[in-house]
Amino acid sequence: MTLRIAVVGSGIIGLTSAAELLARGHSVEIFTREEVGDTTSMAAGAYWWPHKIFPEARVAIWARDTYEEYRRASRDPATGVHFERHDRFCVDPDDSAYVRHLVDEWEEFDATEIGVECVQAFRLILPVVDVPVYLPWLATDLRDRGARVVRRELSSPRELFPDFSLVVNCTGVQARYFAEDPSVVPIRGQTVRVRRPEGLTSSTRLYRRTDAITLVLPRRDDVVLGGTAEEGNWDRTPNPDETRAILERCGRLVPEVVGAELLGTSVGLRPGRPEVRLELDTSDPARPVVHNYGHGGGGFTVAWGCAREVARIVDSWVATTEPRLVEGW
Ligand SMILES: Cc1cc2nc3c(=O)[nH]c(=O)nc-3n(C[C@H](O)[C@H](O)[C@H](O)COP(=O)(O)OP(=O)(O)OC[C@H]3O[C@@H](n4cnc5c(N)ncnc54)[C@H](O)[C@@H]3O)c2cc1C
Repeated sequence: MTLRIAVVGSGIIGLTSAAELLARGHSVEIFTREEVGDTTSMAAGAYWWPHKIFPEARVAIWARDTYEEYRRASRDPATGVHFERHDRFCVDPDDSAYVRHLVDEWEEFDATEIGVECVQAFRLILPVVDVPVYLPWLATDLRDRGARVVRRELSSPRELFPDFSLVVNCTGVQARYFAEDPSVVPIRGQTVRVRRPEGLTSSTRLYRRTDAITLVLPRRDDVVLGGTAEEGNWDRTPNPDETRAILERCGRLVPEVVGAELLGTSVGLRPGRPEVRLELDTSDPARPVVHNYGHGGGGFTVAWGCAREVARIVDSWVATTEPRLVEGW
């Protein structure tokens, strides 16, 4: 049965949810307060790694599904998705070590040989999403397949009934208000972009259990240098002191980026939550909502796995609900 479904949000979570619902034959409209280019998703690096996203068991399944989807996408250079080498130096014991077992290629190596003091070091081949290429590519693909994108701020899912049979809530950090969920908190992330030095083809992360991230992530034309992860901070203005500190930390880790032309800084608010909320909410049976938010620092890592779960939830709702509710009478 074809449903009329409203997806709220045009970040990575909204776009992938819309893609999976369209693939199952539903009619989809995407509502968004911001242009795709102004979302938190656009501020991400982004590489495949589940940073500050829980619970581990569900994340592992979604992440592996998403890894496979990126493998398919990487066959078409227009998507901006590719696989590249990633070196991870852990100064503290790695709290997302389980992830190594989800990827096709990884090895442990001795970092003292290259002069980095750490307790463990890993070399993996990971998907990298060149976000300014991938998000517009996804949005265009959705439009070509019939999805409408509507620029409109909504105060609650209720506004979309009875025009739609079901709403999918992908509002990221704004779910705190849109879904009245105080457990959603911003985790502010600032990054710096520099021009990509000739020959820099692999990414490097120095892992410490602090808010200061050290990440060097080459993309097609630039290198993303990270970053910060400050819980509870809503400020989207770049802080020049942080820019300096990021440049200094990353330059110490990967000297090739020292002196590279500065292209810009950006700030995004990761949607932090003790656990991702991905479930059907029928507290008002006439206005069903599938929530898909709270992906912390791992939205790109799990997006396709979560989107497929959204589609499965919609299928089982259709199969178990009275036809008059499904058709929105
Ligand atoms: C600096 C930084 C680096 C990151 N690096 C990585 C990485 O390497 N790998 C990774 O996997 N993840 C990374 N992340 C995390 C990732 O970016 C997020 O998990 C992801 O972007 C969340 O996507 P989203 O679609 O839920 O939210 P968003 O991108 O914030 O999108 C929310 C959407 O909802 C819309 N919206 C909100 N409220 C309303 C409303 N009331 N009415 C209408 N529309 C509304 C907004 O306009 C927007 O379109 C990073 C994040 C940051 C900040």
